[in-house]
Amino acid sequence: MAERRIVTLRRLDEAQLSRLRQIAVVDAFEDLNETNQAQFMEALSRAHGLVGGKLELDEVMLDKAPSLEVVSTISVGYDHLPLAAMNERGILLCNTPDVLTETTADTAFALIMATQRRLVELSTMVREGRWTAHVDREHFGSDVHGKTLGIVGAGRIGAAIARRGALGFGMPILYAANSAKPELEAELGARHCSLDELLSRADIVCLVVPYNADTHHLMDAGALARMKPNAALINVARGKVVDESALVEALERGVIRAAGLDVFAEEPLPATTPLAAMDNVVVLPHIGSATHETRDAMARRAVDNIIGALAGEGPISAVNEHRWRHYQQNQHQQDQHQPHRYHRSTEDNA
Ligand code: NAP
Repeated sequence: MAERRIVTLRRLDEAQLSRLRQIAVVDAFEDLNETNQAQFMEALSRAHGLVGGKLELDEVMLDKAPSLEVVSTISVGYDHLPLAAMNERGILLCNTPDVLTETTADTAFALIMATQRRLVELSTMVREGRWTAHVDREHFGSDVHGKTLGIVGAGRIGAAIARRGALGFGMPILYAANSAKPELEAELGARHCSLDELLSRADIVCLVVPYNADTHHLMDAGALARMKPNAALINVARGKVVDESALVEALERGVIRAAGLDVFAEEPLPATTPLAAMDNVVVLPHIGSATHETRDAMARRAVDNIIGALAGEGPISAVNEHRWRHYQQNQHQQDQHQPHRYHRSTEDNA
């Protein structure tokens, strides 16, 4: 059998690279630029596996990678990858759920605190020497405790944010999701409702849905208009879940009070965007999961996944395991001898 090859696209620490080298020849790239694009494509054309964050693959690239069996993204979201084309080719897609849930919920809560209490705006006032008098009503913020928290997308991260709100800050929780979550309701007294009801009742609306055709511009001008005028919008999902021009207009015209954003339609966020200049907006450079501990855990999980897929028992977390050509071949053989083993798939709900 020809030697296995894995391409990595992201700075991985030596411990993870050496684990990969135990099962394959590794072509390591830290990022893609004009000077290494051809070299990367050459490596991809021979690769059986690809591990990385922000992998911008398209169908043309997949066509040039006939041996590719597994793509292991260092993220839970996979909206940047052509899932349908990968399914057609029987390529396995692995992702990293769970290990980033609590950290991303922390980031969402940091944005909630910052927008409600105007932390960035008022800290900037101090740093720029504009704290010249007693802080008065014009600089007062809004409470966090006791306010109604609306979670749009009550999955893993949404539930972790809801827990922080309900248990830490005594916040009533409303949530919108495809299906009701009885466990969350029992644990936190959360209530499932329509998106429209959530928008009209929540003081803080937190977006944590996956990005796809259904959630594209879920928060458009109409949805923003349904929010309370004193409400804040928090987005830790993906930028294009929000219509950014409609959001700028809503913030300028006082349709809503504030926004806390970790993600944007275009990243890095162009410095010229009005969002970066508005006092009532807190902007972060997509750092939802960006702590040392969590990014290390995500890299470890992505490496576990690809090793499990190419050389072991199967991946820990996969999006489309049932569409993986090796799974189908193995399953065919197993079907003749054994009952089915359980395979987790998040394809339908993430
Ligand atoms: P998850 O467990 O799959 O949760 C997603 C939730 O969204 C599910 O509860 C799902 O409902 C719900 N949902 C899907 N479509 C919906 C719609 N149209 N309206 C309302 N709810 C909808 O995923 P997760 O692990 O929590 O991650 C969520 C997303 O966060 C990821 O896809 C990623 O894009 C983003 N993220 C961002 C960062 C960051 O750095 N900012 C970090 C991690 C993740 P059902 O359960 O009923 O199907």
